[in-house]
Amino acid sequence: MKVLDSVLTANKSFLSKGVGNFQIVPKLPHKQLAIFTCMDTRLVEFLEPALGIERGDAKIIKNAGNTIVDPTGGVIRSLVAAIFLLGVEEILIVGHKDCGMANIDEHGLKERMLARGITPEAISSIPNLKQWIGAINNPQENTINVVNLLRDSPLIPKDIPIHGLLFCPDTGEIEVLIRGYQTTSSAQVKKLP
Ligand code: ZN
Repeated sequence: MKVLDSVLTANKSFLSKGVGNFQIVPKLPHKQLAIFTCMDTRLVEFLEPALGIERGDAKIIKNAGNTIVDPTGGVIRSLVAAIFLLGVEEILIVGHKDCGMANIDEHGLKERMLARGITPEAISSIPNLKQWIGAINNPQENTINVVNLLRDSPLIPKDIPIHGLLFCPDTGEIEVLIRGYQTTSSAQVKKLP
């Protein structure tokens, strides 16, 4: 069975069980919280319960490696919308151990794209493929960089606390890299090992 067919079958079953049983929740997040994290499949149905987040609680933004490659791009746009249109007052940046975006082989990526019919022109239209794809050295460093980038962003209000967490996709354990409640000058940035 193709994936779409299995999705449609699952949806029929879901609807038949849920008729009249689903609680209607508002679109404004209960916890005034936005979470920016990685698209890693191990985080699905795992990160939220590990953080005590339920349906209706938070805006969750995901991309490959929870990276920001454009200071006015989609991630910042979503956070600005979350803050100014949807009531978000606090941001969690959640990197995770064993991230697939660490130590990416740029050459191998190019080869795979070419092998699947992506043209050399399309690839060379991206000035820095490694940066553009969101390659990171390690998830700790990237999470700290993202917190600092957002903290310095002229589009994010200074009174919004921005925290940096490192999540274990196997155990659900969280390590606090940056507590965002202090001012920029006194923010405690954990030193990398
Ligand atoms: Zn990841």
